[in-house]
Amino acid sequence: MSNKESKIIILLGRSGCGKGTQAKLLIKEFGFKYLGSGDLLRKRSKKNDFSGKKIKQVMDMGERVPTPIMFRIWAEKIEEIKDEVNKKGLIIDGNPRSLREAKLMNNAFKWYEWEDIRVILLDISEQEAFDRLTKRRICKECNKLIPWVGDFRTMKVCDDCGGELITRSDDKPKAIRARLEYYKKDVEPAIDYYDKQKRLIKVYGDRSIEDVHYDVKKAVE
Ligand SMILES: [Zn+2]
Repeated sequence: MSNKESKIIILLGRSGCGKGTQAKLLIKEFGFKYLGSGDLLRKRSKKNDFSGKKIKQVMDMGERVPTPIMFRIWAEKIEEIKDEVNKKGLIIDGNPRSLREAKLMNNAFKWYEWEDIRVILLDISEQEAFDRLTKRRICKECNKLIPWVGDFRTMKVCDDCGGELITRSDDKPKAIRARLEYYKKDVEPAIDYYDKQKRLIKVYGDRSIEDVHYDVKKAVE
């Protein structure tokens, strides 16, 4: 696979739309590399320096790490994994968070000579997003995310390790409202931008994980 043929898949959608779940299914099936800004920031926040502490503080408040800081971490990771991306393709989860980031990312893709960029929007309503976010849980032991869809709603303990399930600390109603608000203001212009570039593929997200995956898979193949 040449750089030009490497598939770059950007997953977008409101918080709770199932991006993480769909990303995992795609990785299992196609072997893509994964780059998630949530994971990147959580990892960076554990470093006990100025930015580490500040990133934790900002995330705890449900606010966003500003673009220059976020993008530096993101771009460093891209550089680190670029050879693997050239072999396997890449899934990007959590970016862009704005039109400005979409443009910065395009510059980065050009730099690495990646041309097959596909943007998949997992479309769920604001109300559905709110329900999923206030009700989804995480395993206290292994950090597995338990989404608020289908059979997961009645799960009592983690099906991987038997650990206790708790509500995630960044999923309090105030933080969720802030995230849905910024989506409207900042992420939607990025979605319009991709739509104009004919790179946007919309997948209706308010269905079972399997049904959504079926359409996501078609978009990727
Ligand atoms: Zn667990």
